[in-house]
Amino acid sequence: MFEDDGYSLDTLAVRAGQIRSPEGEHSEAMFLTSSYVFPSAAEAAARFTGESPGNVYSRYTNPTVRMFEQRIAALEGGEAAVATSSGMAAILSLCMALLKSGDRVICSRSVFGTTTALFGRYMEKFGVRVSYVDLTDMDAWKGAVDGSTKLLFMETPSNPLCEVADIAALAELAHSAGALLVVDNCFCTPALQRPLALGADIVVHSATKYLDGQGRCVGGVAVGKQEIMDELVVFLRTAGPSMSPFNAWVFLKGLETLNLRMQAHSRNALALAWWLDEQEAVEKVNYTGLPKHAGHLLAAKQQSAFGGVLSFTVRGGREAAWQVIDSCKILSCTANLGDAKSTIVHPATTTHGRLSEEDKARAGITENLIRISVGLEDVEDLQRDLMRGLAQL
Ligand SMILES: *Cc1c(COP(=O)(O)O)cnc(C)c1O
Repeated sequence: MFEDDGYSLDTLAVRAGQIRSPEGEHSEAMFLTSSYVFPSAAEAAARFTGESPGNVYSRYTNPTVRMFEQRIAALEGGEAAVATSSGMAAILSLCMALLKSGDRVICSRSVFGTTTALFGRYMEKFGVRVSYVDLTDMDAWKGAVDGSTKLLFMETPSNPLCEVADIAALAELAHSAGALLVVDNCFCTPALQRPLALGADIVVHSATKYLDGQGRCVGGVAVGKQEIMDELVVFLRTAGPSMSPFNAWVFLKGLETLNLRMQAHSRNALALAWWLDEQEAVEKVNYTGLPKHAGHLLAAKQQSAFGGVLSFTVRGGREAAWQVIDSCKILSCTANLGDAKSTIVHPATTTHGRLSEEDKARAGITENLIRISVGLEDVEDLQRDLMRGLAQL
């Protein structure tokens, strides 16, 4: 198999996992079919018992989805991957497959807001207890671990302040307690960070973001050991949040340019961060690529570049932040990220608007904070776009 030959990331991103039909198509085929024809009644029976590995129904398996799973597994360096209908469906599947009443999850406070809502509104309803800790506070992680802890869950770098957690240290802590470390690798993607190689057990993605890279489809995926992924597959087959073959095809094509894009996003973000840092109307820039950022050294150690998301505070309050956003003609005011198009958003009133004032203060979500997902446009054009608003402050 391709994956086993020590090929580099760029080669795997273009080649890994391809299944070629008897038609000999060069590009990956899109298998838009809900079910499959069995060559005989005996073969049908064998597929239903699982003795034969062939396709039965696209809620179970689909060749286009399988190509995407095999390619992302190769990129993350995992044994297997399971694709889902969204990033949230990947996290839900993980919880449903691996947790039971009485288990504990320890989660960093700075994870994606809907992840917190899933844990708080639904997992706790079924008796799973969730403790929240500050991402970078190792003592807090240690203090929260107990005998019932099954999962440690986190994102690094965090959104929107770009705080960085030590994946290897958290993996060691998880394993010492007999728990698994789950890393949401959405911001870095395997092009910049490979959590499994650092000791994490499971990587989850919202494929909606950089794996697609052009803001077209919603999807998700989990990657890890075969035996863990097998448990997710059982949940998926039973509950149904599987990935559509159309979306899998779009993501497969996205992966082919993943590394090129992530390098370009990172280059643009670094240039923009340095520039923002020099602007009089900007108070503070949060980007791990800046040497003065608290997470700079750790990010430089566990990532190959610093990624495309940054945030900054402006002089003034909500009005000043909104003015900068509303003065943009290129940057799109939208909460999505990981797109070729740069996006700009006011976290305090959108992505983090549901937090209480106390939680916002604790998470550093101030009224003058702006988040940018730096796209692939010319960085000087982006600077001119931002300057229009900044010059008025
Ligand atoms: C968007 C996002 C998710 C959720 O993914 P969906 O595809 O929108 O369901 C999870 N984690 C992170 C870090 C995200 O940015």
